[in-house]
Amino acid sequence: MGLGEQTDFTGVVNMRFKIKLPPAVDMLLERLRLCGFQAYVVGGCVRDSILGKDPYDWDICTDALPAEVMGVFGTDNVIPTGLKHGTVTVKLESDLYEVTTFREDGEYSDGRHPDDVHFVKDIKGDLARRDFTINAMAYNPSEGFIDPFGGRKDIMRGVIRCVGEPDKRFEEDALRILRAARFQASLGFSIDWKTAQAMNRLAPDLERVSSERIGSELHKLLCAPYAALSVQKNREVLFAAIPELAFEEGCKQNNRYHYTDVFGHTLAALQNMQQCEAFPKEWADEYVCFALLFHDIGKPSVRTTDADGYDHFYGHPKISAEITDKILRERLRCSNEFRKTVVELVEHHDVTFSPTKACVRRMLNKFGVEQLHRLLKLRECDNRAHTPAAYPLFEDAMKFAEQVDIVLAEEAAFSLKDLAVKGKDLVAAGFEPGPRMGRILSALLEAVISEKVPNEKGELIEYAKRRSLDV
Ligand code: ATP
Ligand code: MG
Repeated sequence: MGLGEQTDFTGVVNMRFKIKLPPAVDMLLERLRLCGFQAYVVGGCVRDSILGKDPYDWDICTDALPAEVMGVFGTDNVIPTGLKHGTVTVKLESDLYEVTTFREDGEYSDGRHPDDVHFVKDIKGDLARRDFTINAMAYNPSEGFIDPFGGRKDIMRGVIRCVGEPDKRFEEDALRILRAARFQASLGFSIDWKTAQAMNRLAPDLERVSSERIGSELHKLLCAPYAALSVQKNREVLFAAIPELAFEEGCKQNNRYHYTDVFGHTLAALQNMQQCEAFPKEWADEYVCFALLFHDIGKPSVRTTDADGYDHFYGHPKISAEITDKILRERLRCSNEFRKTVVELVEHHDVTFSPTKACVRRMLNKFGVEQLHRLLKLRECDNRAHTPAAYPLFEDAMKFAEQVDIVLAEEAAFSLKDLAVKGKDLVAAGFEPGPRMGRILSALLEAVISEKVPNEKGELIEYAKRRSLDV
């Protein structure tokens, strides 16, 4: 059911609206209820159901203590995942559900974790510890919504608002500052001004939050549909999480390719992620999102102005790649695979795409199919954020992309594994095994790429015999 069907003409949520629960969740709530406990679905799944989206997972809360939940479902079906916080995982059929006892958080003396948590009997106490009104609702089929902070109204108005006093809530756990920005990125909502004010004021506290928690929220933020809006509105928050980014703001680009400072260009490029047409959407992946945010981060440190007053940024892709590497390694603790892929994209974001088949094959050989498509996606978003003076470059990239499709459709050779001749074929044809063999194979691949010889075993062996003295 979509959002429209849940509002009457006054814009108020239709109180008769029911959430369609998966049968296993319904059963889980019912079993707890039959044993005399209260039980609700809670948090993100309630928010997403109201928005007409499929919830990512169904979290359940109850007044039953973990041991009592084990009693209801049997110890074999309950995994004690986070007993300290009152969370157990219940196995139902083949699915797993987190069931958490209603709790209130104690003081947060470190600005990160509550000193202690205690279990309570009232769902409202549990909802009060949650971050935003849109995340602080519970539901079950017999009682309907438990919504003490006006979460439904805020969803209808499209507002992200702290539960309680924003300053206090962000002082308790500074990660919530980034979470607010993340929900804005995923929902496109506005942030209530008191919440926004507290976010800006307390953004420096993000320094105290662990890299892993920041990395995970930032990941969700950047891959969300309204990432550019969120980065623009919450620049102070982003700059607190990634101080290197702050130098982009006010870094002028006085040349014919740009009409904004570096940060404005980064925002425009990020925004283009949602508006690209030329390259398939599926390449709009997490690596490209990160590469877009970081592609020009080195520009402020290499900016020079010539005698005519024009700005240049010689060598910026390399330095941007170095800075990105450091941020992803030290600040966000990304996996090696993720970091290397993003850094490679940043480093080559300005590469020249000549729309010839030989260049396509060379690029496919260098980057691989997936990464080359990402690079093209990055290029499209980047180019569209320039003045029209840069469009000829964009046209080349578009023509190049067409050639990529043609080359891939022809299944033309572009890496050694695609070469129709292998080392053993050369040995059989009388070539000496040894290190020279590798050089011969590479020379054959280059000959196929530049169309000097077809990718065909017999022809390749002939060619190798003719040219073997050269390698
Ligand atoms: P998603 O769809 O991304 O999973 P979610 O709302 O389910 O969104 P989670 O991070 O899974 O977000 O958290 C589940 C619920 O726990 C939230 O809806 C919110 O009620 C509460 N919550 C999570 N993190 C915090 C926090 N740092 N402070 C307060 N409440 C939080
Ligand atoms: Mg969740």
